[in-house]
Amino acid sequence: MTRPPHAADRPGLNLFVCIKQVPDSAQIRVHPVTNTIMRQGVPTIVNPYDLFALEEALRLRDEYGGSVTVLSMGPPMAEEALRRALGIGADHAVLITDRRFAGADTLATSYALASALTTLGREQPIDMVLTGKQTIDGDTAQVGPGIARRLGLEQLTYVAAIDRVDPLRREIVVRRRSEGGVQVLASRLPCLVSVVEGLNEVRRGAVADVLRAARAEVVTWSATEAGVEDPMRCGLRGSPTVVRRVFAPSPRQERAQMVAVTGKRPSQLADAVLDLVLTQQPKLEAALADGPVRRNRP
Ligand SMILES: Cc1cc2nc3c(=O)[nH]c(=O)nc-3n(C[C@H](O)[C@H](O)[C@H](O)COP(=O)(O)OP(=O)(O)OC[C@H]3O[C@@H](n4cnc5c(N)ncnc54)[C@H](O)[C@@H]3O)c2cc1C
Repeated sequence: MTRPPHAADRPGLNLFVCIKQVPDSAQIRVHPVTNTIMRQGVPTIVNPYDLFALEEALRLRDEYGGSVTVLSMGPPMAEEALRRALGIGADHAVLITDRRFAGADTLATSYALASALTTLGREQPIDMVLTGKQTIDGDTAQVGPGIARRLGLEQLTYVAAIDRVDPLRREIVVRRRSEGGVQVLASRLPCLVSVVEGLNEVRRGAVADVLRAARAEVVTWSATEAGVEDPMRCGLRGSPTVVRRVFAPSPRQERAQMVAVTGKRPSQLADAVLDLVLTQQPKLEAALADGPVRRNRP
């Protein structure tokens, strides 16, 4: 069993980025019987959000020193996604692959990834784990918080900017995207940061890195080598979520209706729209009767 090089020779931050190989969304097909995404023969890409997470880690390494390790749980073909990350500039790559991981839901996925991070953390104490906000296939945004909970890390989700990191004072300040706007959060290292799209511009990767990526070793671990203590908590067996049916939603039937209203004040515009809606849905008027919305009846 091989391990990534020791961190002692690289002061700075030990940064770990979780990346997932996903089907190229334009080509997604669902298996009619198992209700799972058919991955064989479908072009794959690195989950776009994870590329922003990787770029952010590379920027932190360039600024504070240290190392960037990319980690993925997936079938052997996920090595491709890790090589892409090495080609962009990651220092080390670890693939955890095992038939026992198949069919994992987010609980089982975060368990397997947290186990591998614990094992890696023994060699390189974790300063920060970075993930994408979500994947474009499962789309649950649950794995990042699941890993943070399992490793006891501070979790900073939906991060739109990392404003300050102080490796010595173990401090971090981020801007987080939230419904009401932007929150500025101060927290402590080690932490997990899940990033939103567009917080940076993903670099192309220097030629030297692309060449190195082609030859570099991708450390490949089974569940046992990754330090998974209880294989029953992995894969389909470890997944309380049962995907009943995956299907493409039927396209909406109703057409949008254009309301042509010119030279009217906004309130009159609102009245005209309300008129149209209530004419088409008379029952709605009764329902609204108790609420704040009233039709201005002459
Ligand atoms: C259509 C569909 C619907 C699904 N619905 C559910 C559901 O409702 N509940 C459920 O529990 N599972 C669901 N799954 C399974 C789920 O996709 C897998 O558990 C998956 O491994 C992780 O969930 P996610 O894709 O939603 O990741 P998210 O939580 O959206 O991913 C967030 C981040 O975690 C990291 N990450 C996620 N997966 C990996 C990985 N394998 N390796 C490395 N890093 C990773 C990445 O940085 C990613 O950006 C669904 C799968 C599909 C295809």
